[in-house]
Amino acid sequence: MIDAQQQVHDLLNFIDASPSPWHAVEQIEIQLHAFKFVRLEETVQWRLKAGGRYYVIRDDSSIIIFVQGQKPIVETGFKLVGAHTDSPGLRIKPNAASGIDGLLRLGVEVYGGPILATFTDRDLSLAGRVTYKDENQAVASTLIKFDQPLLRLPNLAIHMNRGVNEEGLKLHKQNELPLILSAMAEDYLPQAYFSSLLQDHIGCSAERILSWDLAVYDTQKGTFWGAQNEFYADSQLDNLASCHAILKALLDETVLENDCTLVCGLFDHEEIGSESSKGADGSFLTDVIQRIALATTQEATDLTRALAKSFMISADMAHAYQPSFPLAYDPDHKVNVNQGPVIKVNVNHRYSTDSVSQALFMNWCEQVDVPYQKYSHRNDLGCGSTIGPITSARLGIRSIDVGNPLWAMHSIRESAGVLDHGYMIKVLKQFFKTE
Ligand code: ZN
Repeated sequence: MIDAQQQVHDLLNFIDASPSPWHAVEQIEIQLHAFKFVRLEETVQWRLKAGGRYYVIRDDSSIIIFVQGQKPIVETGFKLVGAHTDSPGLRIKPNAASGIDGLLRLGVEVYGGPILATFTDRDLSLAGRVTYKDENQAVASTLIKFDQPLLRLPNLAIHMNRGVNEEGLKLHKQNELPLILSAMAEDYLPQAYFSSLLQDHIGCSAERILSWDLAVYDTQKGTFWGAQNEFYADSQLDNLASCHAILKALLDETVLENDCTLVCGLFDHEEIGSESSKGADGSFLTDVIQRIALATTQEATDLTRALAKSFMISADMAHAYQPSFPLAYDPDHKVNVNQGPVIKVNVNHRYSTDSVSQALFMNWCEQVDVPYQKYSHRNDLGCGSTIGPITSARLGIRSIDVGNPLWAMHSIRESAGVLDHGYMIKVLKQFFKTE
């Protein structure tokens, strides 16, 4: 438990420093530098050497990390692990600021499928990327993060919404989501005031700010909870917890010294379908895999042969059983927090798992004394998906979908079990190390 708690402590620090996918990739890069990884640019030629540690970033929020194996890929295949860097939530619109009834509010667009009601009455703020014109009139970007609570979505009092406890909190996406930023000073134009806030934060004059990707995030830090501190809560556990587990499994000298080429793809845009230049359904992963093959093989068929020997684990969170809502689960496939990673099965291939990939993963778990569970969604509810089916289809490799059990997926405050994080790191490590 002590080890697992230390790992979760590290995870919570990672999430709190990563309020947007752009920040998550920046944090990952810092950890890679500690292990002497070298950044490769997609615009230049690559010269790879056996044992080399590399990473490629596309558009600041997707990253592919790879370690060139000591043996040729045609002999070993690739070992891949994938996850996503984005989480559902609210994003700031271009003409965001408007004044109404003495208040300045920011208009937002819903990104992916968050539980909107959980965004009310939280200490919200802004983080992301701002693009501006630099001194040479060239376009440049910088990350931005406001630490203090800047924004709020106050609930309606129960006296004006008497049915809220029976009907649930419903928010109209156009009219009821704008976030309160300020009691508007009469002499400010709303948009100019917002630009001046950004200007003060990034040190670039408001006139030179051109555009932004700004996510709304919860400033409340992650925490342990429960009588024995056996649970933890934070925002963005889906899926920064998997990103963190992958990094912790990889960044170990006994793993990095490997005969096999290891590839970890952490993609933005999963929550909106993955179809973009940097998403898992874009060309990023195949481009990188092809370039590894081009730089290290002779025959045109070597890559196909290597892929036929490869395996991918798609790591994304799973739905933990919550006993207050028994009817939401298949009674024979309840998965519980702190009882190990979950193998996700769906015959309609919303998950990429097949019987052989299940068996292989079960085997790796057993080799390192990690318990596992199996999940199948109720037949009368629509099942979510992951990057697993997309990437395994594009590359033509065997794959499995796994993830740790999580309560309240897509709430702004999700929670999970401490032991599971340690288990996931352990089994991923075993996957990387197995011959
Ligand atoms: Zn996810």
